[in-house]
Amino acid sequence: MSNKEQTLSIIKPDAVERNLAEKIKIIFSENSLKIKETKKLHISKDEAAQFYKVHQAKPFYDQLCSYLSSGPIEVIILEGENAVLKNRELMGATDPKNAADGTIRKLYGVSIDKNSVHGSDSVENARKEIDFFFKN
Ligand code: UDP
Ligand code: MG
Repeated sequence: MSNKEQTLSIIKPDAVERNLAEKIKIIFSENSLKIKETKKLHISKDEAAQFYKVHQAKPFYDQLCSYLSSGPIEVIILEGENAVLKNRELMGATDPKNAADGTIRKLYGVSIDKNSVHGSDSVENARKEIDFFFKN
C-alpha cells in the first residue's frame, strides 16, 4: 500500500556555509525523496525560537536558536513513500559521533549542535513545520 508523505528538511548553517547543500539534496533524490519546494533564507533568532519552541525547556535551547539564526539555511519540502522516517534514516543520529555510516550527519556533521540537517520527527510535526516556512 502506498504511503506518500511530505516532510521538512533544513540544511543548517554549518552545511550551507561549507557548500554542502547540493550534495545533501542529491542524497535525498537518490533515495526517492523528491524535492517539492526549496527556499534559502536567513531567519532571525525570534523565528528560530518559534520554530524550535518544543525544545524551550531544554538546556541547549538558547544556543540552538542562536545557531539556527547564525547564517543562511535552506528549507526543503521532501515528498515520497514514508518520507518522514526515510529522511530521519538518511540523516542519522542527532550526534554525528553516533550516526551510522553513510548517513548525512556521519558524512558532514561537525558536532551535536552543528549537525548539518534538521528533519521533522512525525507526520503531524512535518505539517506544522512545512506551514511554518511555506505558508504565506
Ligand atoms: N541539540 C543540541 N544539543 C543536544 C541535543 C540537541 O545542540 O544535546 C540540537 C541539535 O542541533 C539537534 C536539535 O538540537 O538537531 C534538536 O534536537 P532533537 O533532539 O530534536 O534532535 P534531532 O531531531 O535534530 O535529531
Ligand atoms: Mg527533533
